[in-house]
Amino acid sequence: MYTCGPTVYGFPHLGNMRTYVFEDILKRVLTYNNFKVNHVMNITDVGHLAGDRDMGVDKVEKIAKTTGKTAWEIADFYTLAFKDDLTKLNIIFPDTLCKATDNIKEQIKMIEKLEKKGYTYKISDGIYFDTSKVADYTKLSHQKLEELKEGARVEANVEKKNPTDFALWKFSPKDEKRQMEWPSPWGIGFPGWHIECSAMSVKYLGEQFDIHCGAVDFISLHHTNELAQTETATGKIPWVNYWLHGAFLNMTGGRKMAKSAGDVVTLHTEFINKNINPLVYRFATLNVHYRKPMEWSDDITVSAKNGYENLLNKICNLGQKIGQINKESKAKFLADINDDLNMPKALATVQEVLKSDLSDADKLATILDFDKVLGLNLENAVKNENIKIEIPKNIQALLNERKIARDNKDWKKADALRDQILSLGFEVKDTNKD
Ligand SMILES: [Zn+2]
Repeated sequence: MYTCGPTVYGFPHLGNMRTYVFEDILKRVLTYNNFKVNHVMNITDVGHLAGDRDMGVDKVEKIAKTTGKTAWEIADFYTLAFKDDLTKLNIIFPDTLCKATDNIKEQIKMIEKLEKKGYTYKISDGIYFDTSKVADYTKLSHQKLEELKEGARVEANVEKKNPTDFALWKFSPKDEKRQMEWPSPWGIGFPGWHIECSAMSVKYLGEQFDIHCGAVDFISLHHTNELAQTETATGKIPWVNYWLHGAFLNMTGGRKMAKSAGDVVTLHTEFINKNINPLVYRFATLNVHYRKPMEWSDDITVSAKNGYENLLNKICNLGQKIGQINKESKAKFLADINDDLNMPKALATVQEVLKSDLSDADKLATILDFDKVLGLNLENAVKNENIKIEIPKNIQALLNERKIARDNKDWKKADALRDQILSLGFEVKDTNKD
């Protein structure tokens, strides 16, 4: 499984992180179904230009200039920030997390292959891929070529043969020294944005593999270009058996969340700085199917926080005894998640288990098993004493009875009540105050 990673020039926004949670769920669902997953993700630390279509300045070098840091420092800093977000959202790390700058040789090799086959041409600012030579260039998006061309004309480069052609290798500007640049058979420069994913996926997963993911906006540009150049270079079709794309998290009113518009909400601004558990965001995204757009508002945080805390409380109230996984419930949960990752339905199944007449211990075992997919850290919640627990009425009655016994110095009765409470899954800890 190959998933496109971040361009490391700023903090990832919540929309970016929605995609990574969806991919994590996919990976967990496959693992839960006993598949062995080899997951590769790239880190784009060079070559992603401001215009997406090989025009404008390199995003990482631009931030370096405005902050007085080196491009390498910027890339390292935001790579760490990204990894931190993955950890906070309980996303399982990829088996391989590879940087574009560590794989320049592989990218040059693939461009050479394309050149030998006659799919490339040179213009003043770089080596480009001739998309008109690929018969089914739009097969991933199913868009009409005319529509794609129209979109591409917005950032037209007059020297290109076709508006949809894209850069494989960009030359360093003559009047300015870049921080990240390498020698190549075509001159000093740096790779285009798309070639890194083709070169690294083939390097780490082979010329053909099962799953490739990203956000929906990758379909018509980034993934279309990755697909065209990889299948051309290797000659092996299909390159990828299954493509999965996650829908956007939009700002209120359907506006696209974009760093340039200043509309950026991050895990830090919306959760960590407000002392809200970041897993509340993970929970919020699980309430919307990954192919449905989600709209961002403060209300989402409030309702997700309530929903998540409610779930934790209910689970804490089950006690600490772990029984047997209920087979029927597990079959239902499996049907939900295998129905194109229907997580809203899977969460409803969790609530059904909580309401069922299973024993508390079996409920707990079953839900903790589901959490291998949900990734909501529910096991930790059971152990975490800081969570406010609603004490069930029967336990409270026993506690009251025990207090009376202790006040009367009836230690034998108090100890018996303590054991009875323990057998129900609650432990009494006396403090000096008592
Ligand atoms: Zn990619």
